[in-house]
Parts: sequence; structure tokens; C-alpha cells
Amino acid sequence: MGLIDCKKCKMVISSHAAVCPHCGARSTRTSYLMWISIVIALVFLGYTIQSAHDPVNQEKVISRDVINACWNDYANKSLDKTTKNFIADTCNKLEADFRSKYNEAP
Ligand SMILES: [Zn+2]
Repeated sequence: MGLIDCKKCKMVISSHAAVCPHCGARSTRTSYLMWISIVIALVFLGYTIQSAHDPVNQEKVISRDVINACWNDYANKSLDKTTKNFIADTCNKLEADFRSKYNEAP
């Protein structure tokens, strides 16, 4: 473990001490870790925003919505058997397209 100078009283303290044992000031190490956390949070936030605006990702979200809407149609409406089968075929085709395009289950 290393030794650092306290920012406030300039006494030598352990770099692992959260507060200075001499004056009680927070050590520089704490604020350094805090800054790292802020930077990581900002990078993560930036990545999240970027992936939300990623056109491929957006297309994927829309495709999922279409598949969900399709199955809702299939489940909710009191349709005759032929129509229901037709809707089920369409939904299955949409799912198959999704799988072959994104290589994952919708
Ligand atoms: Zn101090």
C-alpha cells in the first residue's frame, strides 16, 4: 500500500484511507475513484443512447413489435379457423425471418 499527502493538511496518510486520520478530510483516492465511476457511468450512458439510435437495433425492435402484434391478432380475435391458420403461418414466417436475420429468438 502506498502513502500520499493529505490534500488539506499535507500530512502523509495511507492511500487506502478513506479519510485523513489527522484532519478528517476525504483522501484524494476517494475522489479519484469517484471520478472513475462518473466516467464509467458516462461511457455506459453514451453506449446506451448510441444503441437506442442504432438503425439495426431499431429495426429489430420494430420486427419484434410486428411479431407480437401478429400473435395478438391470432389470440384475441374471434376469427374462423382458416383465417387463424393463415395468421399463424404469417407469424411463424415473421419469426423465421427474424431468426435468420438476427440469429436469435424474437
Ligand atoms: Zn489531513
